[in-house]
Amino acid sequence: MQKHANFAEFVELTPSAQVSVARHGWRAKCLQRLIRLDLPVPQTVALPSETVRAIVAGQLPDTEKLAAVFGPDFLVSVRSSPENPEWGGPGTVLNVGMNDAMHARLTDSHGREAADALYLRFVQNYATHVARLDPDMFHDEPGPGALSSALATYRAETDEDFPQSPARQLGEVLRSMARAWEGTTARLLRQAKGAPLEAALGLLVQRMALGIGPGLSGSGTMQFADGVTGARRITGRFRGQSQGRKASVETLYLTRDPRGASLEEASPEVFAELQGYGLACRAKLREEMQIEFAVEGGRVSVIDAVRVVRSARAAVKIAVALSQDGIISREEALLRVEPRALSELLHYQVDPRGARDRFARGIAASPGAATGRIVFTAAAAQASAARDEPCILVRRETAPEDIRGMHAAVAVLTERGGMTSHAAVIARGLGLPCIAGCADISIDTRERVMRAPGGRIFREGDVITVDGTNGEVLAGAAEMLEPALDDGFRTLLHWADNVRDIGVRANADTPEDARTARMFEAEGIGLARTEHMFFDEDRLTLMREMIFADTPNDRRIALERLLPMQRADFITLFDIMAGQPVCIRLFDPPLHEFLPHDREGMRELAEALDRPLSEVTRRCEALSEFNPMLGMRGVRLGVTVPEIYDMQARAIFEAAVEASRRGAQVVPEVMIPLVSAAREVEIVKTRIDAVAAAVRTEMKAEFTYRLGVMVETPRAALRAGEIAEHAHFLSFGTNDLTQMTYGLSRDDAGRFMSTYVNQGVFAEDPFHILDVEGVGELLLIGAARGKGARPDVTISVCGEHGGNPESIAFCRAAGFDYVSCSPFRVPVARLAAAHFAL
Ligand code: PEP
Ligand code: MG
Repeated sequence: MQKHANFAEFVELTPSAQVSVARHGWRAKCLQRLIRLDLPVPQTVALPSETVRAIVAGQLPDTEKLAAVFGPDFLVSVRSSPENPEWGGPGTVLNVGMNDAMHARLTDSHGREAADALYLRFVQNYATHVARLDPDMFHDEPGPGALSSALATYRAETDEDFPQSPARQLGEVLRSMARAWEGTTARLLRQAKGAPLEAALGLLVQRMALGIGPGLSGSGTMQFADGVTGARRITGRFRGQSQGRKASVETLYLTRDPRGASLEEASPEVFAELQGYGLACRAKLREEMQIEFAVEGGRVSVIDAVRVVRSARAAVKIAVALSQDGIISREEALLRVEPRALSELLHYQVDPRGARDRFARGIAASPGAATGRIVFTAAAAQASAARDEPCILVRRETAPEDIRGMHAAVAVLTERGGMTSHAAVIARGLGLPCIAGCADISIDTRERVMRAPGGRIFREGDVITVDGTNGEVLAGAAEMLEPALDDGFRTLLHWADNVRDIGVRANADTPEDARTARMFEAEGIGLARTEHMFFDEDRLTLMREMIFADTPNDRRIALERLLPMQRADFITLFDIMAGQPVCIRLFDPPLHEFLPHDREGMRELAEALDRPLSEVTRRCEALSEFNPMLGMRGVRLGVTVPEIYDMQARAIFEAAVEASRRGAQVVPEVMIPLVSAAREVEIVKTRIDAVAAAVRTEMKAEFTYRLGVMVETPRAALRAGEIAEHAHFLSFGTNDLTQMTYGLSRDDAGRFMSTYVNQGVFAEDPFHILDVEGVGELLLIGAARGKGARPDVTISVCGEHGGNPESIAFCRAAGFDYVSCSPFRVPVARLAAAHFAL
């Protein structure tokens, strides 16, 4: 006599049964809800996780008693019901209870072929999943002799007849499913999806709704919202099984369709009934569900219902529609959309329904997807754009001189670099899809080929697709989905703006960036990097003239020619931002970056400057630095070559007066980079004040401006108190601050970052996810000391971290006023900020 547990080993699902997600799993709970909605769910019994655990420990429940719930002869299915649907679970086993007697009965009622097919499917399933016999021996298609051959093989392999007792079959199926849940692969898979170590499984035994027989019979799935677009439309399939004659299976469209017969036409009543169930689920389960159903002679059974699997764009559309229909609150709609997923909506995406020929994988550095022809140089990219041919710039890594090539390309792929490499930062700013650090490929610039794993070779002109959302490089042109900046998207983000309590600005350097920032409704520009403005052909030469000037006067002459260009840049930014704050950062990079790096470049420069080559070479050597990122850059230039900042300040103020005369009043914000001492700020501020006074007099205009400091060195964070005495705002540049806190080059760390993360030295790439323990502590210290000295000082973050939900949570908790991030991350930031406020 077998011993049985003394707890309730199973419970039949009824409207009032005690069923919980924690004990019986999500599917049991969901089915009970369907039963409460009066949907025709076949009789179902739920085994709680204690019972399933006991089974694994060798203690089977009383299967006779369990079988008795379904009567003397039955056919049932067994399904898994874990606590969370994401955690997987062993596959469903159908037709348990099938034996010779049932076969005979079904032959009478449904015909021999149908009975054979059902029995064969069960024997195959049982043999491979329960008795663990070799699947190769049980793969025959239904047909004459297939059933008897499967039964004979079973007998030969196990030395016993196929089990005829439904209770025993049921017991064995339960045991095999309970054990499968404990298998190593299943464990690892669910843990990867966030399941706890002790994640439990419930099991469901449900009377089969066969979907065969005379009249309209079959089975299918039906959903009422499109999983890719979120649009309200009916999709799914229905497989009708007409028995008696040949056991043919006919697939019907659900709704009327010019291509063939549909369920809607075959049986408007069944169709309407199913539609009604879909509406009931939506209203009462407050979710778009896919229902699994069977029809037997026109009678509908609902076997199961699962949440419609959906893309990000569908998630937004569905959440907004549910809220607008009064089914869920706005807050709940906001919480139902994962902020990061929004970036998927802002760009073209590879259509998940199409084919993918992936040949390499790298860091997903900037989201979106694009198809184009391979080019290996910025010049080739520009030539391609001039021919109106979309191209993908493929480089080992990019440098400032590649910017124009990046502008011309539709996507960027680099062999080296990480999330804050030049390519990644610029691409995110431009909204260009980018894969960085793609170590799978190797680029031979001389031969103009890119080699990929498996000996694949791609040449200049070959078409590839860069999927910057998941870091995959695909051969050829992939099918695409368009961006979805529709009403649903805007509505959701307005709801987010109403609840969030931290500001979101954009980092924008160009008119195009600024327009994107406006389109995504950023609350101003938090960082306009001005150095990018000097790489255009005409300006580069002037910059070089300025750098090579022998005297302050010569320098001033070159700068005077740059002034109107800068002023025009700023007027455009102010105009586009229409009175919203615009924070302009003064010149930051080492002058070294503006020098030519090869002989050819030096020769061209000598020609342009009309100087001897030897002199140009000597000056370049004199200006070159061993460690330019820690050398003559940022405020150090402001102190030692003050004419550059003078020119920029004048351009900003003149532009502000000009723009204010035309439109909304502009209060420009001027920001000093790479500060490490309060005295640097004092010196620069004195000169900027003088420029402001001069512009006021010359232009007979009144204006104010706000001066700010970038906190990018550990010392600036520590001395934020005295620095804040000279500054209206402090903006943490967490890219440089991370680089300097770790002593880790932001341009080179990509080479070993994956090793470091894999070995658990760093939990995450700190250039990607803010290191709250180290860099974060400097942020807290800096913010506290800054506010302590000057309570009205504005505090923000403008490094790449500004768009990361985790960093936003940190900054919000630390009382920061706003974050500033790439324009394309503004929507994610707006929604993430709302999540934290809810
Ligand atoms: C920073 O260092 O975080 C920053 C915003 O400036 P940049 O990336 O231009 O150095
Ligand atoms: Mg910086």
